[in-house]
Amino acid sequence: MKTFCGRANPTTGAMEWLEEDENYDYHQEIARSRYADMLHDKDRNVKYYQGIRAAVSRVKERGEKAIVLDIGTGTGLLSMMAASAGADFCYAIEVFKPMANAAVKIVEKNGFRDKIKVINKHSTEVTVGPDGDMQCRANILVTELFDTELIGEGALPTYEHAHKYLVQEGCEAVPHRATVYVQLVESKRMWSWNKLFPIHVEAEDGEKIIVSPSEMENCPGVPSVCDIQLNQMSSSDFTILSDVVTMFSVDFSKPVRSASTYYRVQLEPVKSGKAQIVLSWWDIDMDPSGMINCTMAPYWVKSTSAFQWRDHWMQCVYFLPNEEPVLQGEKVHLTACRDEYSVWYKLQKARGEEENKADVRVESPVCRCQAHLLWNRPRFGELNDQNRTRQYIKSLMKVLKTDSVCLCISDGSLLPVLAHYLGAKQFFKTNHLEDKIKIIEARPELLTSSHLEDKKISVLVGEPFFTTSLLPWHNLYFWYARTAVTSHLTSSVTVLPQSASLHMMIVEFQDLWRIRSPCGTCEGFDVQTMDDMIKNSLNFRESKEAEPHPLWEYPCKSLSDPQQVLTFDFRKTVPQHCLSTEGSVNLLRKGKSHGAVLWMEYHLASDISVSTGLMQISNEKGNCEWNPHCKQAVYFFSSVIESETLSDLPSAVTYAINFNTKTGEIAMDFEL
Ligand code: SAH
Repeated sequence: MKTFCGRANPTTGAMEWLEEDENYDYHQEIARSRYADMLHDKDRNVKYYQGIRAAVSRVKERGEKAIVLDIGTGTGLLSMMAASAGADFCYAIEVFKPMANAAVKIVEKNGFRDKIKVINKHSTEVTVGPDGDMQCRANILVTELFDTELIGEGALPTYEHAHKYLVQEGCEAVPHRATVYVQLVESKRMWSWNKLFPIHVEAEDGEKIIVSPSEMENCPGVPSVCDIQLNQMSSSDFTILSDVVTMFSVDFSKPVRSASTYYRVQLEPVKSGKAQIVLSWWDIDMDPSGMINCTMAPYWVKSTSAFQWRDHWMQCVYFLPNEEPVLQGEKVHLTACRDEYSVWYKLQKARGEEENKADVRVESPVCRCQAHLLWNRPRFGELNDQNRTRQYIKSLMKVLKTDSVCLCISDGSLLPVLAHYLGAKQFFKTNHLEDKIKIIEARPELLTSSHLEDKKISVLVGEPFFTTSLLPWHNLYFWYARTAVTSHLTSSVTVLPQSASLHMMIVEFQDLWRIRSPCGTCEGFDVQTMDDMIKNSLNFRESKEAEPHPLWEYPCKSLSDPQQVLTFDFRKTVPQHCLSTEGSVNLLRKGKSHGAVLWMEYHLASDISVSTGLMQISNEKGNCEWNPHCKQAVYFFSSVIESETLSDLPSAVTYAINFNTKTGEIAMDFEL
């Protein structure tokens, strides 16, 4: 059997359906999965184990047999914990076939074959009865079906169904309860991911300000949550406007209702300011007493010093539909609306309770301005980055002439607007008609001279940025597009950026290494089968691939100097042959070489460059500052070299990097 996978072709920028081996999808799923991260989450595992032991004892104390239902067993971990805690029997449900197979192997290897039955079904398909999947209903319900937003993976409908059909009334649930917390903040940085700020253009005849149209100003945006590693957000990036309050909680030991609903709380702002953002996270109590608590609270809230890093559960940023001024001490109502899978928020001034109630509508906000569909959150942030814009303006000013015919190739770019504003004066002075921006709805290779009103292009610009790009070098599509429009360019055309370069650096991650690192044993259970499975999936295509990560969220330190490894000259067309390079990079600091980070830099003009990766190495220790709007490429080494001292450092890492001009992909190999 063959499967088709949608993927953007970096040489055409178009989505293509590629015929893939039937295993491709599943290998991707395993290789990029969060299972390793969960198995490394000591805090989570320890607390689940404690909660499960407590639940089994409570059932045993009542003189009952402990029958466990583990929905979404994954590796089988929680069922094995239950069996070890003395459960009489466990039904381990797993919908994802490769995982169910792995669970069977892991359960056997750990000697629980008689105690745990793995069922490869979605829980809603599971039957109960003498001929059913389960002999009888369970009296302990164990699950870990939560995402950063708590309910995004379908925990509510799954619980609703389980209580109706799969567990006994009054069952014990681990976790027992989940609670969602919120805090109201003002944050220019986070708000810049949701609204386009005025853009200041310093043209020769003074400053001009580009403001967004009112539909955009007033647009409620898209409802989807923005999940981030909030602990990487400096406290100087936001102002706290309210205390942390409980928004809602769910008791998993009782019937759960998944139907859309809303919750509301009254907040008394602790500070006056502009309410823009609701920060949110949750915790789970593993037992009814609340003594075993696992929390996602960020650093400024959490009291414990023992901090657990994890990537499978982060924190949520919700954008209010519009910013609302609030006054210290003047109460406001915050409403959380939710459907089965997601949550969104609104804020109202406290008025008569009835009056407010009438206002509550549970429909989720819909973007009316299109911009939120065109630009994702990091892209909004990038377009709002005044420093970056300044570099583009400076470069445009260098290349634009009064009679320039300018073509921009980039998705959702403001460059044409900037160019227009910069050129406006000249047009005006030379008494030309007001310049206009023409949007050509044609792919570059299909561009005709009539699109261009028979003019030749004298200035070709791009950021470059394309929404389909996954890895940094996929924006080299600009180069292919430039090649496709060659016949429409003047012989002395200026291309901005004139070139790009690929840079590479060896790093030690503070935490990100966990997501790809084998686990061996987890709370005493042998989960090596899972490690092997991940390794096998990573090697599925023989050559390992780099993966995109926004490194501002994942601290690392540089172990080598950054090195420029390839350059791409946009003034020329894409060559027929591959571009490859080999070399070595010296290790300068002791540490663990977890992998290489790669990013692109664009050379807009001879002395103006922008980096989509490293911004600077901030101190002696090698801590790195990354472009906060872009994902960088991370290539994890399959073996980690650790050096305690500089003298036992391997002096260098050798690399071979190949840019295949036919496919637009980069293959790489490293040797430590
Ligand atoms: N219990 C494991 C794995 C948790 S990940 C652990 O704690 O380590 C969640 C798993 O649940 C995934 O493997 C997913 O495929 C599975 N899953 C989610 N909803 C499910 C459902 N309703 N029925 C069966 N499996 C489900």
